[in-house]
Amino acid sequence: MKCPNCGSLNDKVVDTRQSKDGTVIRRRRECLDCGFRFTTYERYEEEKIVVKKKNGTTEPFSKDKIVRGIRLASKKQTRF
Ligand SMILES: [Zn+2]
Repeated sequence: MKCPNCGSLNDKVVDTRQSKDGTVIRRRRECLDCGFRFTTYERYEEEKIVVKKKNGTTEPFSKDKIVRGIRLASKKQTRF
């Protein structure tokens, strides 16, 4: 985890605590370069990302579709 004080990536976890309901892990970290202490939180990733389409309908987020869309867009740009 990047140190908010000096930007170093060298840190150690000094304390790990779970929230009461067990859905969040709180970590106390200490930067090994400057000694700055900071806290990070670990939780579930939001799994259902829904994309709202132009016609008002929604559908589950699909990475493939985005990649395809970007490929299509770049194809159009190079077609001079
Ligand atoms: Zn630091």
